[in-house]
Amino acid sequence: MSHTAVVTPQSAHQAPYNVAKLREDFPILKREVHGKPLVYLDNAATSQTPIEVINVFADYYGRYNANIHRGLHTLADEATEAFEGAREKVRAFINAPSSREVIFTRGATEAFNLVANSWGRTHLSAGDEVLISMLEHHANIVPWQLLAQQLGFTIKVIPVHADGALDMNAYRALLTERTRLVCVNHVSNAFGTINPVKEMASLAHQAGALIIVDGAQAAPHQRVDVQDIDADFYVFSGHKVYGPTGVGVLYGKQSLLEVMPPWQGGGEMIDTVSFEHGTTFAALPHKFEAGTPAIAEVIALGKALDWTENVGLDAIGEWEQQLLTYSTQQLQTIDGLRILGTAEHKAAVVSFVVEGAHAQDIGLLIDQLGVAVRTGHHCAQPLLHHFGVEATCRASFAAYNTRDEIDIFVTSLRRVIDMVR
Ligand code: PMP
Repeated sequence: MSHTAVVTPQSAHQAPYNVAKLREDFPILKREVHGKPLVYLDNAATSQTPIEVINVFADYYGRYNANIHRGLHTLADEATEAFEGAREKVRAFINAPSSREVIFTRGATEAFNLVANSWGRTHLSAGDEVLISMLEHHANIVPWQLLAQQLGFTIKVIPVHADGALDMNAYRALLTERTRLVCVNHVSNAFGTINPVKEMASLAHQAGALIIVDGAQAAPHQRVDVQDIDADFYVFSGHKVYGPTGVGVLYGKQSLLEVMPPWQGGGEMIDTVSFEHGTTFAALPHKFEAGTPAIAEVIALGKALDWTENVGLDAIGEWEQQLLTYSTQQLQTIDGLRILGTAEHKAAVVSFVVEGAHAQDIGLLIDQLGVAVRTGHHCAQPLLHHFGVEATCRASFAAYNTRDEIDIFVTSLRRVIDMVR
């Protein structure tokens, strides 16, 4: 029996989740790798792109390519409208109060560097403490380490339990009047752990600290509401949410962004420039968007969010949970395979190691069978070291993956393990 059939999600008012139809939106899913149908299970690294998002580039460069904001001609108007329209789509997607609080960056990584270099540089000093969860991606660690070297504040680590859930008692104990900032991901890219960011924000605020939430792995899988979380800063990347590379988002509370200094200078971000009187800066969000932005990418991100909303984040989340449960069950039948990250609340990521088979070998050999999984440290070296491993294999799912693909993946994995053992 084919597993790609229509399934009905639990919530009654949603249309049935038709994964076969939805896959037709993705040209890349029809390709073969080494003569085998592609089974793409590396979605936590980057997700694939629907045709309507790909088409944005031909449409933009073929019809209305122009620099935005200051032009008076028709093309500039059209490009500006599409660009600012995408900002509004992002605002709605994360339920930010105002589109002035939505800053476009090159990606999640740049958003962290922006906050570190602007807010961090002006608000942190020796004696202060920044709490970083053990689950963090390097993008939410290294900018803070670089700054700590210069400013002399202290970084403390929020530990994890053996199942990959954050130790909330330890977190409470670490919060003191010296804590200025908490850095945590909404969903861990390495283990899939979903962190209680709303509760963590509330505790941070009670201690007088801010919280920056890394939503790179949450935005594609679940509804994000920055007001409900009460996040001070929330960050995600376009290319993990069915959009293009080269664009990401920083949400920040207006009251914070207003008083933060610009971090990059140049065109677009100024009000007036004078050698005699210096420079005054543009209003939000432009103060933080120096230079010509990635215009087509931003417009394409808007389209990607339309696509995601059309399918429905709740439906996507439910489908991926089914894939997670199924793949976990199937993987557990393999001798010597150990899943890392078994927290109760998990998104669609399965990280594992196999006794007697190096992750790198598995990744290379399974590729020969058409299956794309990620192997390595997943930019979370502290976490992997803590669990005593250098690398894991990681399968991560998206809206278009199927149970059939998981069957192929598990069968291929068995073959590969037999080859290397
Ligand atoms: N945070 C998390 C949790 C991620 O998974 C990633 C990408 N792997 C990033 C941040 C960095 O995103 P980007 O490389 O798009 O800037």
